[in-house]
Amino acid sequence: MTSVESHQDEQPLEYVARYGDREFRYHLCYVPEHKKATIRVHVHPNGMVQVDAPESAQLPAIKSAVQRRARWILKHLDDIAERNRDVRPRQWVSGESVLYLGRRYVLKVIQASDQRKVTCKLIGGQLRVQGKDLTPDRIQKAVRQWYRDRALDVFQRRLDLMVESLPWTTTAPAWRIMEMQTQWGSCSPEGAILLNTHLIKAPTGAIDYVLLHEMCHLVEHNHSPRFYGLLNRFMPEWQSVKEGLDGRACLYLNQK
Ligand SMILES: [Zn+2]
Repeated sequence: MTSVESHQDEQPLEYVARYGDREFRYHLCYVPEHKKATIRVHVHPNGMVQVDAPESAQLPAIKSAVQRRARWILKHLDDIAERNRDVRPRQWVSGESVLYLGRRYVLKVIQASDQRKVTCKLIGGQLRVQGKDLTPDRIQKAVRQWYRDRALDVFQRRLDLMVESLPWTTTAPAWRIMEMQTQWGSCSPEGAILLNTHLIKAPTGAIDYVLLHEMCHLVEHNHSPRFYGLLNRFMPEWQSVKEGLDGRACLYLNQK
């Protein structure tokens, strides 16, 4: 019935599939017939591709099933590589990526022996850090300060815009920033708003969601249905925005 007979001593069964000019490896696991009737492909978080096939499946059928999913598999492998790239400790050298307002910029380090003060400028797709004796430590400090400056500027502008549409206030409340690991923002009972500096790496929509959340706390100091009523009214799509933000939390919080 099947061309592949005994599988026990053939583990691990590793094959290579090609798609366009790319290739990937996958492990083939045969599973008892009664458990799974179809060929299934999993991409594990560590990048391992596992193909579960019924014991009766013939190798050409398995290979063509993998081939049909090749695009999907490569997309997953690319996503994993991308995530790993972002959480890898950075070295503060040219070519690394820097996130700002949901976009990725390339860090460009420019040694300028006649420039004492280190400057950071967004030019085209690059964040150019320029100055004298730029060590990784000095570059990191400069980028961190740049993030703070950008956060102060952008958060204020978004708040100013937002208060125009909110009926319970006419001016933006006092707020400050802090690099935090566990929350995007908070609002004290006295109405003091604290915003996470790292939020400046997220898209404007996500920033607006956090600002709105804290602004709603000025009226409702809790997470009551009335509070969510306000959120829904002023940002009906807030749940998907929140999901997107939380899904990328690791990226925004760890890229220091
Ligand atoms: Zn809240």
